[in-house]
Amino acid sequence: MAAHSDTVADVTVIPDQQPASLEACRRCRLWHDATQGVAGEGPRQAPIMMVGEQPGDKEDLAGKPFVGPAGALLDAALADAGVDRDDVFVTNAVKHFKWSLRGKRRMHKTPGQREIEACRYWLEKEYAAVDPRVVVALGATALKSVLHDYRAGLRMNLGKVLSCEGRLVVPTYHPSYALRAPDEASRHEAYGTIVDALRHAGRLVRQHDRR
Ligand code: SF4
Repeated sequence: MAAHSDTVADVTVIPDQQPASLEACRRCRLWHDATQGVAGEGPRQAPIMMVGEQPGDKEDLAGKPFVGPAGALLDAALADAGVDRDDVFVTNAVKHFKWSLRGKRRMHKTPGQREIEACRYWLEKEYAAVDPRVVVALGATALKSVLHDYRAGLRMNLGKVLSCEGRLVVPTYHPSYALRAPDEASRHEAYGTIVDALRHAGRLVRQHDRR
């Protein structure tokens, strides 16, 4: 993390860079205020890849994706959907934490199109390494990145199976949405939607493997 006294103009950005590591990445300015880049995790050749938005505060500090409450919710949803955790590779559309300071807390800021686009470089590397049969897009930012379509909306695509670049794409809510929903009924509904999407992803993998 560079000194906070640097101005935005001072921050190195090399949009066409092809860096060898997340730590060397300067394709957008998000490297500047983050503790570290957070790569995806999970078995190589996992048939399912779950793509979230970006690392949160805890993930940024730990250097691991989906730790903390969102990760716990996802683990519970996978168990309820009957999907083996070993069949899943987890990652984010954007690998550095974007935040702004409110009081003493680092508050999440949604990545912009340019940042999502810049960071697709890394998602493509993960696609090449893992070659998932099904991609579960967790939330609107992930869906835009996965579909390579910045006009894609989440709600209109919930419950559908889409396809992009030869992969099946199952859109659903981000686990943070289910955690933040204002009342018990909406939390329950959002959680159920995530479980249904994961169950569907598991079914698609089994159908694909039977061919
Ligand atoms: Fe590179 Fe992605 Fe980090 Fe931007 S967010 S600096 S593209 S790794």
